[in-house]
Amino acid sequence: EGTVVAHFGGQVLVEAGDGAPTRCHFRANLEQLVVGDRVIWQAPRSEGDGVVTAVMPRATVLKRPDNYGNLKPVAANLDRLLVVFAPRPEPSSALLDRYLVAAELSGIPATLVLNKADLVAPDNADAVARLVALYQDLGYPVLQVSATSRDGLAELSHGLTGGTVAFVGQSGVGKSSLVNALLPEAELAVGALSDVSGLGQHTTTTARLFHLEGGGHLIDSPGIREFGLWHIDEDELLRGYRELAALAGHCRFRNCTHRHEPGCALREAADAGRISAERLNNFFQIAATLDEQARQRYHS
Ligand code: GDP
Ligand code: ZN
Repeated sequence: EGTVVAHFGGQVLVEAGDGAPTRCHFRANLEQLVVGDRVIWQAPRSEGDGVVTAVMPRATVLKRPDNYGNLKPVAANLDRLLVVFAPRPEPSSALLDRYLVAAELSGIPATLVLNKADLVAPDNADAVARLVALYQDLGYPVLQVSATSRDGLAELSHGLTGGTVAFVGQSGVGKSSLVNALLPEAELAVGALSDVSGLGQHTTTTARLFHLEGGGHLIDSPGIREFGLWHIDEDELLRGYRELAALAGHCRFRNCTHRHEPGCALREAADAGRISAERLNNFFQIAATLDEQARQRYHS
């Protein structure tokens, strides 16, 4: 048994329990392998590559659309998504919601990571505190860290022990800074990966699995970091809003659109302040863009 730690064009790097990666081909009848996959593989007989013969069932799969709009897995067996935001660029709950919905629909628990805590200042403290409270009230853990000052990093990596995580979030919030701050130097030496792969420095990998000091693992790639909401419909979007999903069965009309019907449990709860009106607004706002995406696909 082993774990896929990197993926190149037609080959993967597989790590066995002892930690040494081996370059492997895979049988053509296998489903698309991704980083994080647990596989059965055979070591090379003498010279050459090993071969992956089977993929174990995945606990979770993170997917994103390829250039043709088809959903493709990008990482397997993630235990947690770390959704990063910061005082700058100015955070928005609508953006954070998109990552959280994707996490909910993938069945991957999410933690919010407020990075650049050192930049919390009188002009942004209220906005940041409001967001922290909003998501904590929904049951999402929120950690405050600073990749620059290293505040909170020990606590963050402590919480990652044993699990496999990935950072996601808007550009500029500090994801690469956090990866650099958390990974041991040996893991950061990408040259070492190229050597062991034998494929040269210029081979681009889709994603990589790194080992953290405290025993956890980190899957990272540009495609994972900024993956967006894939092509979902409004029912799925609603399921990604945990507090809205819990109420949706309680509307007066079974086919309630939650927009203008009397007796809508979602709007009543928002009006009474039992749920966040901001989240409900975000839901409508994102639902409108989903329609737009669907129309664009239909007409293209
Ligand atoms: P990414 O696009 O999410 O990967 O963000 P980067 O890691 O490239 O960081 C964007 C900018 O924010 C860079 O200029 C970093 O130096 C800066 N940055 C990252 N983390 C922190 C932090 O904790 N505090 C401060 N003040 N700046 C940070
Ligand atoms: Zn309703």
